[in-house]
Amino acid sequence: MLYDLLLKGGHVVDPGRGIDDVADVAVEGGRVAALSTGIREASARKVLDVRDAIVVPGLIDFHTHVFERGTSIGVRADALLAADGVTTVVDAGSAGAGNYRAFRTYVVEKSRCRILAFLNIAFPGIFHGTTPDLRIGELTDVRVCNIAAAVQMVAEYPDLIGIKVRANFDGGGTRDAVPVLLARRAAEEAGRPMMVHFGAPPPLGEELIPLLRPGDFLTHVFRGGSGNLLGGDGRPVPQLVEARGRGVLLDLGHGARSFSFQTARAMLSSGVTPDIISSDVHAICINGPAYGLTTTMSKMLNLGMPLWDVIRAATWVPASALGRAEELGTLQTGTPADITVLRVEKGRFPFRDAVGEELIGERLLRPLWAVVGGELTPVGVSQ
Ligand SMILES: [Zn+2]
Repeated sequence: MLYDLLLKGGHVVDPGRGIDDVADVAVEGGRVAALSTGIREASARKVLDVRDAIVVPGLIDFHTHVFERGTSIGVRADALLAADGVTTVVDAGSAGAGNYRAFRTYVVEKSRCRILAFLNIAFPGIFHGTTPDLRIGELTDVRVCNIAAAVQMVAEYPDLIGIKVRANFDGGGTRDAVPVLLARRAAEEAGRPMMVHFGAPPPLGEELIPLLRPGDFLTHVFRGGSGNLLGGDGRPVPQLVEARGRGVLLDLGHGARSFSFQTARAMLSSGVTPDIISSDVHAICINGPAYGLTTTMSKMLNLGMPLWDVIRAATWVPASALGRAEELGTLQTGTPADITVLRVEKGRFPFRDAVGEELIGERLLRPLWAVVGGELTPVGVSQ
């Protein structure tokens, strides 16, 4: 039998299976067919020499906005595949119950990369424009938070992950916890987790955190400026530490305004690491400061998070959180062949956070190739 594709000689990092070693990966019929050393080149129709690279499970960007043309902040999902080698993107509530079907038909079903989504508790999703005069949040009138419509949509599309709420000034809401309570009720009725975005107050992040349940996601945990999650002593607020202890998952969600090196350093030195590294890439930050997932991962690497943990936070942890660890986020034989090939480059690389601080890093994760559903594609190009 001939394999369709053989990735030869790469350093495989598969945290879900505990693999951190040189190995060959063979793909056949869109699935991972073998992972071992010494698979012969003659056994594959196509061989890719990846000796200078690391081979990881297909990257999952857990927080993006890819409702292109349906929302003004939407970017093209397949552009994230082309640029970053991301094989699964999670849309964090661009669409609500009022337009999710369109997102499904015109984006999810037409994209090469896998797209999963949170449903916005706001019926119209994120409808604001990209200019300040049109930054009118989706919660300006809280009546758009319709629980029944959201629950019905999850019943119609059971692969929806859960409910998203932008619970602060960005969402333009009532400036209290009401939208989060409504999102939580919808999530409870649908039997799903929720993702809570906090930001510039009101309300303060620490007022919202106690409302999250185990398995819910708090995003933008390393934001800087007003409303960050550091106390006056420069340490993580106790609500964050407590939430982490009871199983609330922390998502990085870089975005345009939600990542600060200073906050990240303080969190990391207090032992608070992000469970999930995500870019929150959208039209306002795709050309900086977020750029995409591998840039965000590189930032964490240069802040001292070990490579193994960085890969884990963009593969195994999000796949497990999605309840899809049997098929995504691993190179287990028999799973769909979603694979990303990266090179860890050494040099001097400037990075910028969302509040304007520059960091000169010594390592950069450069995406080289992706395999999606068994098909090889060169990546690392912007489209
Ligand atoms: Zn977002």
